[in-house]
Amino acid sequence: MGITIYNTLSREKEDFIPLNPPFVGMYVCGPTVYGDSHLGHARSYTVFDVLYRHLKWSGYKVRYVQNITDVGHLTGDTDDGSDKIAKQAVLERKEPVEIAYKYEVSYFDDMKKLNILNPDISCRATGHIIEMIEHIQALIEKGYAYVTDQNNIYFEVRKFKDYGKLSGRVLEETKSGERINIAGDKRNSEDFALWKAADNSHLMKWNSPWGVGYPGWHIECSVMSKKYIGETLDIHGGGIDNVFPHHECEIAQSEALTGKPFIRYFIHNNMLTVNGTKMGKSLGNFIILKDLFKEIEPMVLRFYILQSHYRSVLDFSKDSMNAAKVGFDRMRNSIFSLYKKTKDRKSEGTFRDVDEIFSQFIQAMDDDFNTPIAISVIYELLKLSNTELNKTDSDINKLTYISEKITIMTDDILGIQFNTIEAGVKNHEDQLISFLIEMRKQYRAEKNFKMSDTIRDSLKEMGITLKDGAAETAYTID
Ligand SMILES: [Zn+2]
Repeated sequence: MGITIYNTLSREKEDFIPLNPPFVGMYVCGPTVYGDSHLGHARSYTVFDVLYRHLKWSGYKVRYVQNITDVGHLTGDTDDGSDKIAKQAVLERKEPVEIAYKYEVSYFDDMKKLNILNPDISCRATGHIIEMIEHIQALIEKGYAYVTDQNNIYFEVRKFKDYGKLSGRVLEETKSGERINIAGDKRNSEDFALWKAADNSHLMKWNSPWGVGYPGWHIECSVMSKKYIGETLDIHGGGIDNVFPHHECEIAQSEALTGKPFIRYFIHNNMLTVNGTKMGKSLGNFIILKDLFKEIEPMVLRFYILQSHYRSVLDFSKDSMNAAKVGFDRMRNSIFSLYKKTKDRKSEGTFRDVDEIFSQFIQAMDDDFNTPIAISVIYELLKLSNTELNKTDSDINKLTYISEKITIMTDDILGIQFNTIEAGVKNHEDQLISFLIEMRKQYRAEKNFKMSDTIRDSLKEMGITLKDGAAETAYTID
């Protein structure tokens, strides 16, 4: 049995058959880099990281392309508002390119903490303006796009008969629903911008055959996916909020030009809510990863995300996060005991009961990447491991075999690392801080306040704050 994937295009689970096996071309819409990454990013990119890992583990040669949106994404998400990056640049008194690079670095930094592998190609929209102009020019020549008297260029949606095949929206609905946002020079309300003319005050603009302007948001993904993968992609991923208008528009732009199917499997992760409501800056429940990582280990967040299936809504709350931490620690303790026992060993032969559990794990992953089931199977294998560990004559070869399978399941496929962190044992940094706290305690007992204050102040300078309690001294790290 091979891999099955729920395809948003057909709304069904389908057998996964890439265009040119064993090669797989996978494109996932990347972040718009105008602020630090939030919980929604963590979910989406963890999901696609696991997909990427599982496909690779299954023997596919995957090229994973992810874009960086550094121009064209407007605050209104359609064709209205100002550019998100340019707006942030004004706020921070920086150049747009400084903003884009700052938050791109910040994004990859957060993704690394979550043990998310880098894509094979990370490409920036601003590096592909020439290709975008070529693509738009070809759409105009084919009659799918038009230039207005204001030098804006729109895709004429009515000319593309398959519009709506992904989102299920029919044109009339779109028309009435989006009427409020009609730009003055569009022929029809549903038409979307491929290129917009820029006035002098605009911070990011390029020369084009239609004068100075900047690209619309959707065009970059059609152009960069074609450049780095081809006219037909095996997998295109993104958050469910990208289905409309972004992915619907991508299909129109790409298929109108090539006449070929743009995507074989469209995969969308469901949304993330916070305490039952949509997360939003204006709602006051917006969670930035850098803030969250001060409270929880990134690996616990990854574990938490994967406990839900990617097509379910994930509702984040402190309580459910703490419950996940308990489960994570239980798993970590069991795995640590196993690794301690089997360190530096290699197994010989196979064990049928272990293989059976392992194949259940693979089956769960093959079945539309069912990570919650896969995680429950790991618990099953750990039960077997604990039973073996508790025997007086435990079979070290079997334990080694189990530990090798656990490494594949956790490190390789789910990307959850347990073996680097020793359960119940503090890391070196914690040990050093504890040692300094102990020294400070002694100085204080000797009434050597000069030394005890030096320790406290030096730690403070390093971002480590000591808090003296009644019984002991606790600390926080910024
Ligand atoms: Zn995209």
